[in-house]
Amino acid sequence: MLTQYQKDSKRVYPIIYSQQYGSLSSVNCYLYDNGGSLSLIDAGLNTPRFKEFFYNSLKNYNISIQDIDQILLTHHHEDHVGLVNEVLKVKQIPVYAHYLAIPRVHFDESFLTNKYNFFLKTYKEYGCLDLVTQRFKTMEQTFLNRDRLRIQSEVCALKDRDEVEGLHVIEAPGHSPDSILFYDPTVKWQFSGDLVLKKASTNAIIDFNDDLNLLPTVSQYQQSLFTCREIETEWMFPGHQNPFLQHELEIERKLSRMEKKERRVIDAVANGLQDTVSIAYNLYGKKVDTLTSLVLSEVIGYLEFAVTRGNLSKRMDNGQWVFQVIK
Ligand SMILES: [Zn+2]
Repeated sequence: MLTQYQKDSKRVYPIIYSQQYGSLSSVNCYLYDNGGSLSLIDAGLNTPRFKEFFYNSLKNYNISIQDIDQILLTHHHEDHVGLVNEVLKVKQIPVYAHYLAIPRVHFDESFLTNKYNFFLKTYKEYGCLDLVTQRFKTMEQTFLNRDRLRIQSEVCALKDRDEVEGLHVIEAPGHSPDSILFYDPTVKWQFSGDLVLKKASTNAIIDFNDDLNLLPTVSQYQQSLFTCREIETEWMFPGHQNPFLQHELEIERKLSRMEKKERRVIDAVANGLQDTVSIAYNLYGKKVDTLTSLVLSEVIGYLEFAVTRGNLSKRMDNGQWVFQVIK
C-alpha cells in the first residue's frame, strides 16, 4: 500500500525510489494535488530503472502523465530534472524553476563556457588543478552533448516570494544557487529539495555569481537553514530520504554539524596546514581522490566561511590562497 498524504483538499503522492545514490538512500519526486491541479515536483533521474519505477508509481496511484498540469523544480541537479523531457514528450506542460536554474537546465553555451572558466580560475587559485583533470574532461563532454541533455522547452522563471499553484516560492541557496523551497501555508507542507534531509546531509557545492566570482555557499546554506526553520511546517517532503516531521530538530542538528565542520577546518590551519589540498587530505584522506569535487567544495566552502566569520585570514602567495588563523 502506498502512503499518500492528505489534508483538506490537498494531497501528496510521493515517488520514493529507494536506491543508494551517493551517500543517500533514495531519490524522490512528488505529485502534489492542490485540489485544482496536479504538479510534478522534481523529476528524478534519467535512467531506465528510475523511469520504470516512475511509471509503476503513477499506475499504482491511478494517475497518468496526462493528468499532470505542470512541473516544478527545486533545483537544476540531474537527480531532480531527469524525466522532464520524458514527461514533455507525452504532454507539453509548463516547467517552473528558479531563474538561475534556466541557463543550467538549458545547458546554454555561454553559461557552460563561464562555468568552465570559473572552475579553471578557482581550482588554480586554491592550488588543486592537478586533482580535477577528470572534472574538466566531463565538462568538455557535457558541452558536446548539450543539445541532448537540455530541457527541451521554455522554463518559467521563479523568484523569491512568487506563488505558483498555491505554493509559495522561497529562495534557499547553498546546495546550489537556484535552490528553492515550495511551501503550502494552508496545510504547512514544505517541498524542501536538498536543503534539509532526515539523517543525511548534502553539501554546499561551489558555484559562481554573474561576475564569475565564487559564491559564499556555506554562508548561504546556513542562512537558508535559518529561513527554513522559521517556516511553520508540519510535513517536510525532501529530495532524498523519507518525508519527516519536526523539521526544526533536523535543522538544529545540521547547524551544529556546520559549526563542527568549520572548527575542523580552523584546527587544521592552526596545526600548520595552510593550503587547500593539504587541509583536504588531512580531513578527508582517500576521499579526496574518489569524491574530489564534493570534498573540494566542502573544504573551499568552509575555509571561506571561516574567513567571512573572521576566524581565518587568507592571502595570495604565488597565485594561490594560503590561510592563517586569526588569533
Ligand atoms: Zn539531489
